[in-house]
Amino acid sequence: MKILVLLGGPGAGKGTQAQMLAADLGIAHVATGDIFRAAARDGTPLGLEARTYMERGELVPDGLTTAMLLERLARPDAAAGVILDGFPRTRAQAEALDAALAERDAGVSAAISLDVPTERLVERLSGRYICAAAGHSYNVATRQPRVAGICDEDGSGLIQREDDKPATVRARLAAQMESLDEVAGYYRERGILVAIDGYRSIDEVAVDVSAKARARLGADA
Ligand code: AMP
Repeated sequence: MKILVLLGGPGAGKGTQAQMLAADLGIAHVATGDIFRAAARDGTPLGLEARTYMERGELVPDGLTTAMLLERLARPDAAAGVILDGFPRTRAQAEALDAALAERDAGVSAAISLDVPTERLVERLSGRYICAAAGHSYNVATRQPRVAGICDEDGSGLIQREDDKPATVRARLAAQMESLDEVAGYYRERGILVAIDGYRSIDEVAVDVSAKARARLGADA
């Protein structure tokens, strides 16, 4: 089972790079933020609870998040492996993931960190739009859709995420950068942290991410 973790602040490009890498390696892309947003849209109890935290730009509690992630990993399309996007975001989540994987004789192969300076993250987040259907991501500065306001992939309308509005962006960054450093430290201690300069074009970053992921996964990638 190939397990890769993508780390980065909000707006570092995790979602975009995770989608590209998943297609490249033929394994599932699992984004906890997307799962929470879908659950909130569907009005499930988990989704409604998660939404109260998301709207404030805070992390959803570890217990709820980890339970949801492990349930997702048990689905058939995750059997060959996954690219985790937005999980783990705390040390407790990283430990819970390792414990669950150890039970299956598996482990995280690499944690790829997309490094982007904080000031640049604020700019990127404020310009981001996602499609209403599946969360495909666009940006007024760096990645415009072919037709304004419409997703290239599925034709749905583009919207700004509630938590990408300027007041929430700064709160999210403040709340999340600290625990991101903690998670990066967790993987650094285990010798599997791979740092990548994320402040380059999408394609340049993708080439680097793919090469380093393949090197870490070894011959079977
Ligand atoms: P994202 O789409 O990854 O930026 O996630 C959007 C929001 O979902 C975050 O601001 C958190 O409120 C919540 N969330 C996503 N993943 C996690 C996680 N691993 N732990 C806690 N909260 C999360």
